[in-house]
This record gives sequence, structure tokens and C-alpha cells, in this order.
Amino acid sequence: MKLTVKPLKQKDAGRGLAAIDRVSMRELDLENGDYIVISGGGESQAVARVWPGYPEDEGRGIVRIDGRLRQEADVGIDDRVDIEPADVNPAKSVTVALPQNLRIRGDIGPLVRDKLSGQAVTEGQTVPFSLSFGPMASSGQSVPLKIASTSPSGTVVITDSTNIDISETPAEQVSSGGAGTSPEGVPDVTYEDIGGLDNELDQVREMIELPMRHPELFQQLGIEPPKGVLLHGPPGTGKTLMAKAVANEIDAHFETISGPEIMSKYYGESEEKLREVFEDAEENAPAIIFIDELDSIAAKREDAGGDVERRVVAQLLSLMDGLEERGRVTVIAATNRVDDIDPALRRGGRFDREIEIGVPDKDGRKEILQVHTRGMPLTDSIDLERYAENTHGFVGADLESLAREGAMNALRRIRPDLDLEEDEIDAEVLETLRVTEGDFKEALKG
Ligand code: ADP
Repeated sequence: MKLTVKPLKQKDAGRGLAAIDRVSMRELDLENGDYIVISGGGESQAVARVWPGYPEDEGRGIVRIDGRLRQEADVGIDDRVDIEPADVNPAKSVTVALPQNLRIRGDIGPLVRDKLSGQAVTEGQTVPFSLSFGPMASSGQSVPLKIASTSPSGTVVITDSTNIDISETPAEQVSSGGAGTSPEGVPDVTYEDIGGLDNELDQVREMIELPMRHPELFQQLGIEPPKGVLLHGPPGTGKTLMAKAVANEIDAHFETISGPEIMSKYYGESEEKLREVFEDAEENAPAIIFIDELDSIAAKREDAGGDVERRVVAQLLSLMDGLEERGRVTVIAATNRVDDIDPALRRGGRFDREIEIGVPDKDGRKEILQVHTRGMPLTDSIDLERYAENTHGFVGADLESLAREGAMNALRRIRPDLDLEEDEIDAEVLETLRVTEGDFKEALKG
């Protein structure tokens, strides 16, 4: 029996879970806590722990896994996958490698064990470890840990009695097993890192992911996949994040062009620079070119001051018209001033799809807060629902700051004399840190 892949909810990502609806669980003879191998038919596979699915999935034959597991299994959303019971042993010991720039004083082993307990790991794999504190970990982001070796070998499950050793060699120098690592140039943002934009993500996926993954469908139907998608809305609402997540989801090469930068930093060579970026993208297809603040390049030509602006817009038009790898290179542009964009760029064959990314509503704000507190050791007293209610008008970037500020308050509270600029983190401090209601309240007061 095959199941259909869907994303996990934001709050449940990063724990190696596969949420399967109960009806399918019964049919597959699976129980909560079983380990399964997920494969999409190719050589890649991912091992996950079964978890009862969301009520709305009941009877729909759905398996929800996060971006890391989708990557490992080399499958995308809506793909059909096979599920088999996995042959896993409890780990006696696991050696993990930390990234070079994460310097810990003391033994971080127990903390790693706590966080990864229950997860299935394999040598060479990279697993996210949420660490919301310290100079290099901003809120909600996790630190990539490399599994350097395991005993016994094979896929093992980390338990409360697994011994966790920290490798002397930094993660960057430990070779990968091929699983769980994105090819160079592919961003590591996944759909689970984006809150409150489910409908918008569906639209973007339909426009970009479908043609890139299944060009034959479009050929068959005789329709042209879009070359350009314009995301418009206020700053900090997740436009860049979305472009990156789409690129990640389809393993596409990602090129960024910053509108203001191309006009100022590359002044005099703006057209050349644009051409280079398009060339790189075509060479590395499938690729997504993200143009941030398109309005600063492509303001309406009648408003545009000089020849330079006109020439740059003309160049962009001709590059888009000339994209040969139909559907394999897509340009996503973002702007918060959609009415200022040169209408020639908004016509058919260029940025002819537009998606508005608005300010999030209460539910959206809650999801975004869940994304950015996912790795934080929150005390139960923090009611994110209430914070979502009290943050009317906040965009994603504001909510991220709120969460980060809350975490910083926790740090300040525990160690008034802690040097936040210090580049080594104390494992003991990490273990006792909790973000409390008070920390969040304080952060909201600003
Ligand atoms: P934009 O491109 O719309 O100006 P970004 O995507 O660059 O905004 O967002 C800036 C940061 O704010 C992101 O890196 C992320 O941390 C946070 N953020 C913004 N929107 C969201 C969202 N919808 N969900 C989660 N985080 C968000």
C-alpha cells in the first residue's frame, strides 16, 4: 500500500517523525513508535518513527514527513511512497560531530541525547539539533550535527541509555553518507519553516514545482510553464523564505539578485551581472533565480530616471524572453511596491503570475511563532495562542524577533554576567536554560 507525502505541521518538524493517519496505520499493521523505511522508488530512503496522524488526515492515506526526511528519501510533496517496517537496533553509542563554529565547554552529550532520543540515525547523516542559544544559533534555527559513527553500525535508534560522544573532528570534515545533505547552492529552508502561508505555498508549488518535476505533464497538455512569479506584499512576510523553500523542495540551484545591489554595487555592469546570473542558473538547472526588491530595478520606465535603468529593464526582459530551459529555470521576484513595476514585466511570458503575500492573521502568527520557538526549551506556561492574539499587525520577521528576544531574556536572566559575545557556550548552562512566560512578556514590551 502506498501513501501520499504531505508536509508536517510546523511545530512537529525536526524530530524524525512520520505522521500516518490511523486508518492507514491499521492497514499497514503499524503502531505508534514503530520505525519505518520510506522510499519513493529510487535508491534513497529515509527512516522515521511512526506517529498517529492529524485528525483531518483520517482515511486519506497520508504520510506527513518534514523537509529533511523528504530530502533523504528523495521524494516531494504529493509523491506516492512505499512504507516498510525498518530493521533498527538501539544505539549503544553514537559519535556526533558539531559544526566548527559551535564551541561548547563541558559535556554536551546528555543534551544531545535528550534532544535526539527516539530518532533513528545512520552514519554520515546530518541531523538538525535545535539550539536556540549562543552566538551562532538564531532562534528557531538548528545546528546541523553530523553522525560520525554508531555502534552497532547500520541504522540505530538513540535511547536514554545511548552514550553520546562528541567527535574531535568538526562536522564539516566528516564525510556524508549522501543522505540528508543538499547539493551545493540549494538552500536549506523547508516548508515547515514557513508559517501561515499554506495557500500561497500551494499556489507557488503548482506554478513552479509541478513543471520542474513533471515537465512531461505540461508538454502533454501543450501549456507553457510560467517563467516568472511575482510575490508582492509588505517586507518581512516570508517572500524570500518561500522562494528558498521551493528551491530546496525540488533540489534546485538558487541564485539571488538583490535589486538595489545590482543598481548600485554593480553600477555600470548591472546588465552584465544580470546576464551572468541567468547563465549560471541555466548551467545549473533546475534553478530558481530570486530577484529581491524588483521595483528598484524595474520601476516603470516612464518614471525611471536615466538610460541605465531603461537598459537594465530591457536586459531583464530579454533574458526572461530568452530563457530556453522551459520550466527548468524559473524567476521568482519579490516586491512591496507592485504598482511601481514596469508593466512590460507583468505581461504574459514574464512575471505573469502574481501572488500576494499579506500580513499574517492570528492562526498564521501562531504557526510562525511555532516555527521560531520549535527548538526552544519553553516552559509550559507560555501560551503561544495568546501571543498570537496579542501581536496584531506583526509580520513574520517581527515574530521572529519576538521569539529571539524572548530567548535572549532567558539568557540574561540565568547568567547576568554571561558574556553574550563569548564564543564558547557552557554545556551546563545550556542544559538548565528555559524560556519562560516572563521572558516573552518582557520581549513583547520591547
Ligand atoms: P520578505 O522576503 O518577505 O521581506 P523574508 O522571507 O526575508 O521576508 O523574512 C525575513 C525573516 O522573517 C525570515 O528569515 C524568517 O525568519 C521570518 N519570517 C518572515 N515570514 C515568515 C513566515 N511566514 N514564517 C516564518 N518565518 C517568517
